[in-house]
Amino acid sequence: MPRPIQATVDIQALRHNLTQIKSSVPDALVWAVVKANAYGHGIERVFEGLRAADGFALLDLSEAERVRQLGWRGPILLLEGVFETRDLELCSRLNLWHVVHCEAQIDMLAVHKTHQPHRVFLKMNTGMNRLGFSPQAFRAAWTRLNALPQVDEISLMTHFSDADGDKGIQAAMAVFAQYTQDLSGERSLCNSAASLRHAKDLNVRADWVRPGIALYGSSPDDPQHSAQHWGLKPVMSLNAAVIGIQHIQAGDTVGYGATFVADRAMRIGVVSCGYADGYPRHAPTGTPVCVDGIRTRTVGRVSMDMITVDMTDLPHANVGSEVTLWGLPQKSTHGAQGVSIDEVALAAGTVGYELMCALAPRVPVAVLESF
Ligand SMILES: *Cc1c(COP(=O)(O)O)cnc(C)c1O
Repeated sequence: MPRPIQATVDIQALRHNLTQIKSSVPDALVWAVVKANAYGHGIERVFEGLRAADGFALLDLSEAERVRQLGWRGPILLLEGVFETRDLELCSRLNLWHVVHCEAQIDMLAVHKTHQPHRVFLKMNTGMNRLGFSPQAFRAAWTRLNALPQVDEISLMTHFSDADGDKGIQAAMAVFAQYTQDLSGERSLCNSAASLRHAKDLNVRADWVRPGIALYGSSPDDPQHSAQHWGLKPVMSLNAAVIGIQHIQAGDTVGYGATFVADRAMRIGVVSCGYADGYPRHAPTGTPVCVDGIRTRTVGRVSMDMITVDMTDLPHANVGSEVTLWGLPQKSTHGAQGVSIDEVALAAGTVGYELMCALAPRVPVAVLESF
């Protein structure tokens, strides 16, 4: 028997989440963001669930090739644009749309030989200070691009720095609106947080939204709002099993560093999942976990291949019991509870994004197709 650990990717949940996002931005076209191998889920695995998107947005040319190989003939957007002039040849060949965020990328376009002019998304820096032209330099960049025979349509985009936080998007929106006022072209503005929290009060056109995390069923602004609050369903579940049990007494310790000290007699379950599987090593004692669909907590340090959980109040749990690290149990019967990836992330001081992206290659993944 292979080591009992498995991740699952739920296609129906993907479809549901995409529909949910669309209903919050009913007039916008949707880029399904599948960078980082679809946030760790696998581009090939999620493709079927995201077919109803209007396009796929990603970073790597190799990922764009994979999406084309799956038979997708619609739009694909390179979110960071090209990295060298040669990349533009692949853009021409695969008909990829690409972001233009700096002068060097315009220089590359200017020397690119193509029969098919490119569709580009010109990016404005509205306060994130990562990629993009300053508002003041934006028009000159647009004018330069517009004069190139290599360029077809120019769309306008920005990425908000605090769509999930207290600042919101108002200041950035005002800047974007001011400096793009009389420029033609479609607009692409919102990530998941902006789509769910702010799209309704946008006072400019937002032709394309760019949700990523919400598609995968994690909340962009947890813990303020949970995935459940946004009507999102978990796509990735990670399940393992109890492979050993220890009965310990008050004063006994569990795991490396002896950080957990029992204050009473306890029954400890040893679980076939550790940080080499992608479980966060920083998850402290008390991180929620489910055994046979019943919630309990981790105890002691996470090690490479195992974690330890409190089964003191779970007398029916035994070797072989299913353990849900995040998402939903797959074997435990109805009434079974799950653990949201955001709860685990919060306990470990990170975000759901990082946990899903870090699922280790050694974990087998099954695709759940239910209609
Ligand atoms: C990753 C990314 C997104 C998606 O962000 P989420 O928070 O996952 O919705 C949108 N736009 C750009 C430019 C990105 O890099």
